[in-house]
Amino acid sequence: MKRADCAFCRGKGVDPFQLFYQDSICQVCCGRGLNSIPEHAVSCAYCHGTGVQPHRRLVCTVCSGTGSILTHEPTEPCPECNGKGMCAGEYLPCRTCRGKGLLSLEVIGLKGDCHV
Ligand SMILES: [Zn+2]
Ligand SMILES: [Zn+2]
Ligand SMILES: [Zn+2]
Repeated sequence: MKRADCAFCRGKGVDPFQLFYQDSICQVCCGRGLNSIPEHAVSCAYCHGTGVQPHRRLVCTVCSGTGSILTHEPTEPCPECNGKGMCAGEYLPCRTCRGKGLLSLEVIGLKGDCHV
């Protein structure tokens, strides 16, 4: 694990959108401005590592606002969304990779079995 600046509030510890009241604390890092991120985490494809849900002023549902996601190696880009985490013309996370933009080969194998 490593300590990284909270993506959602950019390390400030306060809610970037001040949705509820002024100076409300960041709901992702609980006001600490830091999150514990596993070493092998990668940037969230869906929110581009910002921790913010695209088109909405909400915490990204894919990475829970941390801007990072965990994958099981080896991975390959999701063919459904071309690794973007979101299908063209849609706001919701890609259903195939759940917004991660990556598929682990393990998961692809399991999915194939399900579709026999
Ligand atoms: Zn934060
Ligand atoms: Zn995200
Ligand atoms: Zn996808």
